[in-house]
Order: sequence, then C-alpha cells, then structure tokens
Amino acid sequence: METILFLAYTEVDGTLAKPALEALAAAKSLAAELPGARWLAGLVGSSIQPGADRIAHSGAERFLGVAGPEFDQSRYATDAAAAEALARAAGATIIVAAATSRWNRVLAGVASRLQGRIDTHVTALGVREGAPAVTRWFYRQRMEAILERKQRPWIILTEPGTHAQLEGCAGAAVVEPIPVELADKCSRTSVTGVQAPPADAQTIRPDAELLFVAGAGWTKKQSDGQPHAREAETLIMDFIHRTRASLGSSKSLVDLSGEGQAVLSCLTHLNQVGQTGSTPRHLKGLATCCHGEEPHTVGWRFISERRAVNLDPACGWARGKADVLYVADAFAVMRKVNELLGGAAVAS
Ligand SMILES: Cc1cc2nc3c(=O)[nH]c(=O)nc-3n(C[C@H](O)[C@H](O)[C@H](O)COP(=O)(O)OP(=O)(O)OC[C@H]3O[C@@H](n4cnc5c(N)ncnc54)[C@H](O)[C@@H]3O)c2cc1C
Repeated sequence: METILFLAYTEVDGTLAKPALEALAAAKSLAAELPGARWLAGLVGSSIQPGADRIAHSGAERFLGVAGPEFDQSRYATDAAAAEALARAAGATIIVAAATSRWNRVLAGVASRLQGRIDTHVTALGVREGAPAVTRWFYRQRMEAILERKQRPWIILTEPGTHAQLEGCAGAAVVEPIPVELADKCSRTSVTGVQAPPADAQTIRPDAELLFVAGAGWTKKQSDGQPHAREAETLIMDFIHRTRASLGSSKSLVDLSGEGQAVLSCLTHLNQVGQTGSTPRHLKGLATCCHGEEPHTVGWRFISERRAVNLDPACGWARGKADVLYVADAFAVMRKVNELLGGAAVAS
C-alpha cells in the first residue's frame, strides 16, 4: 500500500503558489487511482498555516509542518533537512512536489538521503496494472516515456503547467509540527537578500497566458532595403510591456549577437525556444518573423493555440504548425496591435 506525501514550501506570506497547487492535484488524483493508497500533506516555511488552510478540505489525511524563520528562504541545507524530516514522519513511499527551481536543486539530494529515487520534469501521473507510473519527455520533448519504479521512496517532481491547480478546498487545517534537528553547518549559508532585475526587465514569464516569439526576420532588410532593428525592439518591447506576455526567440535571432549583426538587446539565449532552447507551456503563442523548424515543431509543442505572422505565404513550418498564419508584414501588424492596445498598458 502506498503512502503519498504532497510536499510544498509556502511563499513569504504563508500561501501556496500555483505550481504547488498543481502538484497537490496530481498527488490527490494519484491517490484516488491507486488501490488502498493514503495521502498526506507536508508543508515547509516560516509560516505555513495559511497554506494548510488553503488546502484544508483537499482530502489529505494529515497535515505535517516544518515551520520557523530558518525555513523562510530557499537554502539547500534547511530545505533538505525539512523535506527529509517530513518524508520520514509521513512514512512516505511516494513524494509528489512541484518541479520549481527550489525543489529541483534540493530533492535529488533528499532522495539520496532516503535511499530512494527521483524523477523530475514529470508531466503526468497514473496507474498501470495497479502500480504508479509517471510520464516525461526526453530528447528535447521529441520522445515521451512512461516510467515505473520499484524503489521506494520515489520522489516525483511535476512540471509546472501540466496539471490544473486544486481549487475550492479551503477551510481550517490542524497542522502537526514535525521537529527538525538543524546541524550547525545548516547556518553556514545565510541569505542576505535577493538581487533580481526589475519586473519589466524580466521578459521570461512562465505564468503568462501568451508567448510571443521573435524570429530573425525582425533584423533582416525590409522592403526599403534597410534593416530596422531598433524599431523592431521598440515594437516588441512595447507589446511585451503592454500585455505582460512572455518573450521567446528563435535561435538564429539570439545567435546574431555573436556574428556582430544588428540585434535586439532585449533578448538573451535564455529566451530561446526550440530543440536547443526551452519548451514553454503557455496557453497561446504568436510567432513573428520566424521560419525555423525547431521553434515551430519542438519549442511550440505544448502551446495550445498557435498563430504566426510571416511575409512568406510558403513558410512551411509556420503553415504546417500554426493554427492561423497571417501573411503580413510583422512591423505593420505589431504597430497596429500596439496602437489598439494603446489604453491597455500594464504598469510594471
Ligand atoms: C541541431 C540544431 C538545433 C537547433 N535548435 C534550435 C532551437 O532550439 N531553436 C531555434 O529557434 N532554432 C534552432 N535551430 C535553428 C533552426 O533550424 C533555424 O535555423 C532557425 O530557427 C531559424 O530562425 P528564424 O526562423 O528566426 O530565421 P529565418 O530562418 O531567417 O526566418 C526569418 C523569417 O522572417 C520572415 N520575415 C522577414 N521579415 C518579415 C516581416 N517584416 N514580417 C513578417 N515576416 C518576416 C521571413 O519570411 C522568414 O520566414 C537549430 C538547428 C540545428 C541544426
């Protein structure tokens, strides 16, 4: 009989973020599918009661908590100690958590401490012939595999955006405190602050509804025989600021900087989508001036509604992979779109 532990850390205000609520839904539905399985919730943070209350009626059998100011921020030593203590207190055979950067860097080590196994980037959980099984993608999302494991405990990290978050289960939860012995070395690392770019400088937004992909066409010579990279940058960033969309790029466009050509300074290799870039999961995507196979077939694989703007009506990948292809000049289109969005600028 499996004992499933849903594991999450709380945010600064004690609440649970969307990826955690998605992992919760995955843990709950796995427990419902597995004959005889029980499931518990384990929370870590400086304040955990708001998070526990948010999921009080989720169906978790017990709520275990590791709380205290030392668990406020992401730090390997304290996060690993808390996760290990919760897993042991729960007697967990399966641990389900969100594949956030915080858990990604800690839970492989916890699996080792527990002499268990871990699978990351899991996109679906299910049951095959009475045993739990997980789905994940390999080779840059070109192959899908279903994995089963005999080893326990088995830590499963669910990819954010792959499950609907659990809603409507708030109430008052009773949390059982779990003590954690922190070795002296746990305080060797002290978090003195967070350095992050201003909100409007951060253009990669996994939670945005729309992904806007810029291709190398933005820097090519246009109908007047001249490139217009500066105008391209203004049009793109204007759109991104107004809509709070996430900004993606083709490889060719981000690579141009290495070739000394006119480039868009708003882009780095982190923005690249595709086989050697990221595979985002936004609801909608708009590709502009983009021809490449990799961004359209691999980078876009999980975008639900795909549209493209390209001057070339014969652009095979845009035609073949987008739901709607606008054969048009992206400069003209985005100028008009920004004009229409005129009143809708979102303060950053
Ligand atoms: C092993 C390998 C891995 C790769 N991995 C990736 C990857 O991860 N991601 C990736 O993106 N690429 C990847 N590539 C490169 C990929 O094959 C393409 O070369 C690249 O994506 C092309 O970029 P692009 O579409 O932006 O540029 P281009 O191919 O130059 O296309 C520009 C497009 O802009 C259009 N255009 C020009 N002006 C306008 C205008 N005013 N309005 C509208 N449209 C206009 C043109 O019609 C053209 O279709 C990889 C290649 C290899 C070999």
